[in-house]
Amino acid sequence: MDFSKVEKIKEQAARDILEAKTTSSLKEIFNRYLGKKGIVAKQFFYLKKMPQPKRSEFGKQLNELKKSIEKRIKEKSRIIEGKDSREKRKIHKIDVSIPSKKPQLGHIHPLTKIIRETQDAFVGMGFSVEEGPEIETEHYNFSSLNFPVDHPSRDAHDTFYLKKDTILRTHTSPVQVRYMEKHNPPFRIIVPGRVFRHEATDSSHEIQFYQLEGLMVGKDISLANLKGVLEEAIKRVFGKKTVFRWRPGYFPFVEPGVEIDIACPICGGKGCSTCKNTGWIEVLGAGMVHPNVFKAAGYNPKNWQGFAFGFGIDRLAMIKYRISDIRMFYLSDMRFLSQF
Ligand SMILES: [Zn+2]
Repeated sequence: MDFSKVEKIKEQAARDILEAKTTSSLKEIFNRYLGKKGIVAKQFFYLKKMPQPKRSEFGKQLNELKKSIEKRIKEKSRIIEGKDSREKRKIHKIDVSIPSKKPQLGHIHPLTKIIRETQDAFVGMGFSVEEGPEIETEHYNFSSLNFPVDHPSRDAHDTFYLKKDTILRTHTSPVQVRYMEKHNPPFRIIVPGRVFRHEATDSSHEIQFYQLEGLMVGKDISLANLKGVLEEAIKRVFGKKTVFRWRPGYFPFVEPGVEIDIACPICGGKGCSTCKNTGWIEVLGAGMVHPNVFKAAGYNPKNWQGFAFGFGIDRLAMIKYRISDIRMFYLSDMRFLSQF
C-alpha cells in the first residue's frame, strides 16, 4: 500500500463530488467512499495489516482523507440545497411586470333588461312602479280578483300552498287590490314581480317567472285607452313597426277581456317554430276591470272605470333575445349571461 493511493482516492472523490448535481447522487458518492464497504473502509482494512511506524502514518493519512471527503460532500450538499431553494423561490416569485388578469365584469341579466325597458316605456306614459308581497293570501290572490271558489287555477297543481290560506302568489294581480285599498283614483300603476306556479318544468315552463302587471283607473278610462297605452309600450320593446292582433280573451278579473298578439318578430309573420307556424305570438292579456274587483277593493263600480293588463317578462325576453328555453334565465350560467 502506497501513499499515492490515498492521493488518487482524494482526487477521484473530489472530481466525483464536483460533478454531482443532486442530493441523491451525492448520497451515492458518500456511500461509495465512506460507506461500511466503501473505498476508504477498504483502506482501513489494509491498515490493520501494516507494520509500525508506517501504520500510524498511513492511519493519519486515511483519517485526513475521510475528513476531507466528508467536508467536500457537506459543502457540495449545501450548494445543491441552496440551488434547490433558489429554484423554488424562482417558481414562487411574483413577476410584477406581468399584466394583470382583467376582473370579469357582471352583466345585466336579460330579465332585468326587459323589466327596465318595459318599466321605462310605462313610466314615460305617467305610470308609477309599485310592489307587493310574494307570499299572499288566497283572498288577495283569488277571491278579491273574482276567481270563483272552484276555479281550476286554485287547484294545488298550480298553486304552492305554504299553509292553509297562505300561498306563493301565482300572478302579480293581487297588488292591484292591495293598491286600490290604500289609494283613490285616478291613478296608473305598473307592478313588476316574481310569481310562482306549481307545475312541471320544461323549455317554456318554470316554477318561478316574472310578470309585469298594470292598472289604470279613472272616471272615463276606456278600451281605447287600453289599446293606445299597450300598443305604445309594446312598440317601445319590439319596434315601431310591430303589427298587432287583438282577440277576445277570458280572465276572471276583467270584462271584457282581450289577448294581444304581435306578428312574429323572428319570421316576420311567415311562420316558424317560435310562433308554431301561425305567424303570431301572444304577448299580453288585458281587459276592463271587472266590477267585482272594484267592489272587493271598496270602490263603487258605478263611479270608476279602468283597465288592467299583465304579461310574462320571461316570455318577452325569450322572444326578443330568441332564447328557446325559459330555464336558462335561472341557471346563473355565465356562458349564457355574458351574451347579453
Ligand atoms: Zn315565427
